[in-house]
Amino acid sequence: MDKRTLLHFSNDVVDTFSRYIQAKDSDCEAGGLILGSVHGQNMLIKEVTEPTINDKRFRCLFERMPFGHEAMALAKWTTSKGVTRYLGEWHTHPEDDPSPSTLDRAEWKSLAEKRIDKRPLLVVIVGRKSLYVELVQSNGKGSVLVPIS
Ligand SMILES: [Zn+2]
Repeated sequence: MDKRTLLHFSNDVVDTFSRYIQAKDSDCEAGGLILGSVHGQNMLIKEVTEPTINDKRFRCLFERMPFGHEAMALAKWTTSKGVTRYLGEWHTHPEDDPSPSTLDRAEWKSLAEKRIDKRPLLVVIVGRKSLYVELVQSNGKGSVLVPIS
């Protein structure tokens, strides 16, 4: 458990997450990029990108296509003069209290390895009742974050 990192999710982000909760059996997974600012060890999560028509959305799989998400991340980065940046990835799971799949782990590790700034990758899984939040290091090791409020 990591007690040194604090995360704050903006109301907009919480609203977006709630809109994609897989409440019905027919709901597909959703996901996107997490954008925000870094303050030492802490992070302010300001915005998340939403699924585009190019993304592949299924009941138990979400495959994000770069187009759309990356353009938005770049636009936010430019307009905020580099303050709002890419922090990581989010997606939904059709589970009450979600946990990462083997595929999730493999993908997170490769994304963390690719980061130029060597910062850990923030990953969020939006379940039906709770969020799963983890910071993944480039060696694939992660620390799970727990809610404090
Ligand atoms: Zn997953």
